[in-house]
Amino acid sequence: MGEFDLIARYFTRPVHQAALGVGDDCALLAPAPGMQLAISSDMLVEGRHFFADVDPEALGHKALAVNLSDLAACGARPLAFTLALALPRVDEAWLAGFSHGLLALADAHGCELVGGDTTQGPLNLCITVIGEVPPGQALLRSGARPGDDIYVSGTLGDARLALSALLGHIALPADVLARARQRLERPTPRVALGLALRGIASSAMDVSDGLLGDLSHILQASRAGACIDVDAVSKLIAASAYAESAEGQFDVELLRQCTLAGGDDYELAFTAPPARRDAVATAAQASGTPVSRIGTVQAEPGLRLVDAQGLAVEHRYASFDHFR
Ligand code: ADP
Ligand code: MG
Repeated sequence: MGEFDLIARYFTRPVHQAALGVGDDCALLAPAPGMQLAISSDMLVEGRHFFADVDPEALGHKALAVNLSDLAACGARPLAFTLALALPRVDEAWLAGFSHGLLALADAHGCELVGGDTTQGPLNLCITVIGEVPPGQALLRSGARPGDDIYVSGTLGDARLALSALLGHIALPADVLARARQRLERPTPRVALGLALRGIASSAMDVSDGLLGDLSHILQASRAGACIDVDAVSKLIAASAYAESAEGQFDVELLRQCTLAGGDDYELAFTAPPARRDAVATAAQASGTPVSRIGTVQAEPGLRLVDAQGLAVEHRYASFDHFR
């Protein structure tokens, strides 16, 4: 199978909203009049972001999910995406699984594949997503103000827990690993929550490299600091029932490491004034996404960690950095 047959078979579908999809030199989009475009790219590299033998269907899902998560963090509605793909060889079973996972998530979000590039080379995927947002309504990192509440959506730390088990650093029962692995391999982009938080959240970003590291980007952009309740965060691991069971007995440091700095969570971290607590709860409910309050923005720069009793906890939870 040649390059163009491959594109035709696995990556060409009729478009609905776009004016022109795959097949010409450019795709053409027709955003609603007056909207701003929100654009973001994420690359996934074999051996760096995923194991060589990962289920291709899950990889297709994740490649788009991590990009949709960036649109969610900005409160943008997904429109379309492009896919740049380097493949070592044409493996039809792999391509069928990959495109299935990719396009199923695309359909679920009404986000159309409108173009891309396909080349031979070490397995590497780069997606660029395009969304739309009314002018002035995008959620930015720079809007947090002292006194704002800090929230995070969903669950944290399970992806890191699964990774640690897959790397052989810790042992997990098969059922606990299977559930945690779902979070690692099939993250849920919080698009509906991002849309619901327009006009409510003062700042937002998605948690991809680890909560504390990502929060520090919000704080830096907003020129503020924060106090975070690490016990409130540790509870957000979906595997908490296991962690608290007699056999689970995770050491508290492992739980903190996973939830505070684990990475690959693709949840939203955001801030909002205390006066908007009801509005945040309504947005969470309307979008079917649980959110938890985990701290407070402060004027003094830096991150301060406390436990449930309010006692200071030393900050030694480094988030992921490709070059460290
Ligand atoms: P060009 O030579 O103009 O760069 P290509 O020959 O690379 O175009 O691609 C032909 C068409 O197929 C273009 O419309 C391009 O956007 C699309 N395309 C190529 N690879 C992919 C892919 N992996 N997914 C979706 N569309 C693709
Ligand atoms: Mg061309």
